[in-house]
Amino acid sequence: MNLTHSLQISKTAQSRLPEVDFDNLAFGEIFTDHMFVCTFRDGKWQSPEILPYQDIPMSPAASALHYGQAVFEGMKAYKDDAGSVWLFRPELNFNRINTSAKRLSIPEFPKEYFFEGLHNLLQLDSNWIQPGIGNSLYVRPFVFASQACVQAAPSTEYKFIIICSPVKAYYSGEVNVLIEKKFSRAAAGGVGYAKAAGNYAAQFYPTALANQKGFQQIIWTDASSHQFLEEAGTMNIFFRINNTLITAPTGDTILNGITRKSVIEWAKAAGIKVEERAVAIDEIITAQHNGSLKEIFGSGTAVVISPVNSFAYEDERYQLPKIKNAYALQIKKAITEIQYNQAEDPFGWRHKVS
Ligand SMILES: *Cc1c(COP(=O)(O)O)cnc(C)c1O
Repeated sequence: MNLTHSLQISKTAQSRLPEVDFDNLAFGEIFTDHMFVCTFRDGKWQSPEILPYQDIPMSPAASALHYGQAVFEGMKAYKDDAGSVWLFRPELNFNRINTSAKRLSIPEFPKEYFFEGLHNLLQLDSNWIQPGIGNSLYVRPFVFASQACVQAAPSTEYKFIIICSPVKAYYSGEVNVLIEKKFSRAAAGGVGYAKAAGNYAAQFYPTALANQKGFQQIIWTDASSHQFLEEAGTMNIFFRINNTLITAPTGDTILNGITRKSVIEWAKAAGIKVEERAVAIDEIITAQHNGSLKEIFGSGTAVVISPVNSFAYEDERYQLPKIKNAYALQIKKAITEIQYNQAEDPFGWRHKVS
């Protein structure tokens, strides 16, 4: 597809950067000076723009507010010590937002607009990215139905927007998880594989109940039998039994995580055996009892890898062993060094912005 419009850029008159306290950043509350906006109307994506970050005027009848036609992405931009800015496998985020969009009857977004918008936005706001492992710019592309109409039908108008928020490395503390048997995240034939806004809304209540019981996260099980382990909160999940890594296969209930994919590819290249197959709760409990369960960890863009300290199932709590040279730490270090241009990139994962 060719760009039918050129990107219009209006810069902010005054940067808010000097006001930002980078030592005390709360996740996702501060946004950079600019944003990318593109409107779908009259059957096509109109002229894309970069504007000063600002509120967006919206009708109270906007379809997304009523029927949840909204999808998003989460990615990060990193700065190396020489000041170059990098993204990590952004073409996968681009493909995935369109996979998500298709499932929610949202028109696909053109690749040229996405990458031209992303590059220009990150170049304009590159001073907001601090170098050093852990520092990054969280990039949030999203699309929502903006037509003023409460008819329960796909919207005829949409907004595609990219906003960016500076983030610091943060230590999330010990992660104790609860295997959930009542509530479900995703059902066969549903929207679990899409990064749909509503999937998150549906998780808040069960997660709050788990938090009250002292767990930081839920491990979701399959909606029909509750016998198989699918995802950890909003992360994919890996189990290490002896020296094999096991994770649920992607399908319509599992989000196809870019970190998940990278963990699998890195581990295989490092000679670690990886199996993508259904993981039964029974298998994990048995492995815990016979000592072959070595590690459980979540994977996702926000923290790369999040090791699990303990898990609970039917009122029983199981403590994972403290092991040396954990895969979780090795993999986190390797992927992070690729992201920050501190190591060779044999996989071609890094994408240079400027
Ligand atoms: C975004 C997301 C992930 C992680 O995907 P990454 O591409 O690795 O960030 C995993 N599970 C769910 C439900 C998600 O929404």
